[in-house]
Amino acid sequence: MMNFDFTPEQEMLRQTVRKFVDKEIMPYIKEWDECGEFDRNIFKRLAELNLMGVCIPEEYGGMGMDYNSLAIVCEELERGDTAFRTAVSVHTGLNSLTLLQWGTEEQKQKYLVPQARGEKIGAFGLTEPNAGSDVASIQTTAVRDGDDYILNGQKTWISLADIADHFLVFAYTDKSKKHRGISAFIVERTMPGFSSRPIKGKLGIRSGNTGELFFDNVRVPKENLLGEEGEGFKIAMSALDNGRFTVAAGAVGLIMACLEASVKYCHERKTFGKEIGRHQLVQQMIARMEAGLQISRLLVYKVGFLKNEGRRCTRETSLAKWIACDYANQAADDAVQIHGAYGYSNEYPVERYLRNSKAPVIYEGTREIHTIMQAEYVLGYRQDKPLRKTLPAWRPAEN
Ligand SMILES: Cc1cc2nc3c(=O)[nH]c(=O)nc-3n(C[C@H](O)[C@H](O)[C@H](O)COP(=O)(O)OP(=O)(O)OC[C@H]3O[C@@H](n4cnc5c(N)ncnc54)[C@H](O)[C@@H]3O)c2cc1C
Repeated sequence: MMNFDFTPEQEMLRQTVRKFVDKEIMPYIKEWDECGEFDRNIFKRLAELNLMGVCIPEEYGGMGMDYNSLAIVCEELERGDTAFRTAVSVHTGLNSLTLLQWGTEEQKQKYLVPQARGEKIGAFGLTEPNAGSDVASIQTTAVRDGDDYILNGQKTWISLADIADHFLVFAYTDKSKKHRGISAFIVERTMPGFSSRPIKGKLGIRSGNTGELFFDNVRVPKENLLGEEGEGFKIAMSALDNGRFTVAAGAVGLIMACLEASVKYCHERKTFGKEIGRHQLVQQMIARMEAGLQISRLLVYKVGFLKNEGRRCTRETSLAKWIACDYANQAADDAVQIHGAYGYSNEYPVERYLRNSKAPVIYEGTREIHTIMQAEYVLGYRQDKPLRKTLPAWRPAEN
């Protein structure tokens, strides 16, 4: 039987995040967006509310909730601002869940547990100046030296680059094997030779931190190799399955925010003697937002359901990410249009929604990459083979 109801625990979680966003993000976000910073205590507060490891099993320091609970957190955070959802996407989606899937018990104890508790922040370093969609073009190298690897290279466009404590970093251990020669490493900020620098002048997600990472002979112990040598490409792609799920869920939250602002404005603003909400062409934009919200949500929760069951869902995740981010981008554009000239100024939040809605159409697989993936699945050119390690299915806590 299919069940579309939230559990009482999920409802409570949604209310908790919503209250937090309304009280601790909404009143300040305009200012944070303008000055390109936010109060770092927000991470402490997210940790206090157990939101940094909501779907990580309790035995590894998390809350032990299901994968759709992570979607709920992402939806509600992005209703506040994309920067906070992006932080959870990289910390939990791209990093912590990847440690849960691929890490050794020692790695989980050392890195996953403090991340799930929110004591340490995790990030994900794949993109390089000459390699985004084309991952196999990365140039960062890791050369074995005794019990260590020596990392050299550079990453760019890394969310939380100047904030995170731990990074999953992808580097070639054997260039001759092409993508089968990429390996994944856990790198700590404090390792000598590591440095980071912020990227300035972004279109959106301005309060969030995005930057570059530099590796100058960074000595990483062999215990920090995640998975086996040469498994890095598969690990990166499986990490993206989790990250994309959170990005899609966040897009649902952005559509909610666009609708909230637009419905309010539709009732306030009058032209030609009636509320603008009474004009059919304005209604068309509202209807398109509602359709986008409902369609995207169904796609996201289906992925959450498959994850809860422990089933591979790369295809479904790609579809959810592509469609939800496109709808969010369209909803933000419509929201500005509904606000007319006022939508074009930061007196209203919708201009920020429009600027924020663009990055998710680019990161974690561009619109074009997901379009190609979907066509290839349908045409039979692409199939998902079983992985050596799978993300654990969700098991409700016994009590
Ligand atoms: C705000 C922000 C945060 C980010 N955070 C992270 C992060 O935390 N970690 C990380 O590793 N990366 C991060 N990224 C990087 C992001 O993942 C890349 O920007 C993305 O993968 C696209 O790569 P690119 O920018 O190099 O574009 P390119 O790959 O150079 O693509 C340029 C254009 O060509 C198109 N294109 C490329 N190949 C094809 C093809 N085969 N067919 C059709 N069209 C194609 C693309 O769709 C795009 O329109 C972030 C980016 C942004 C903007």
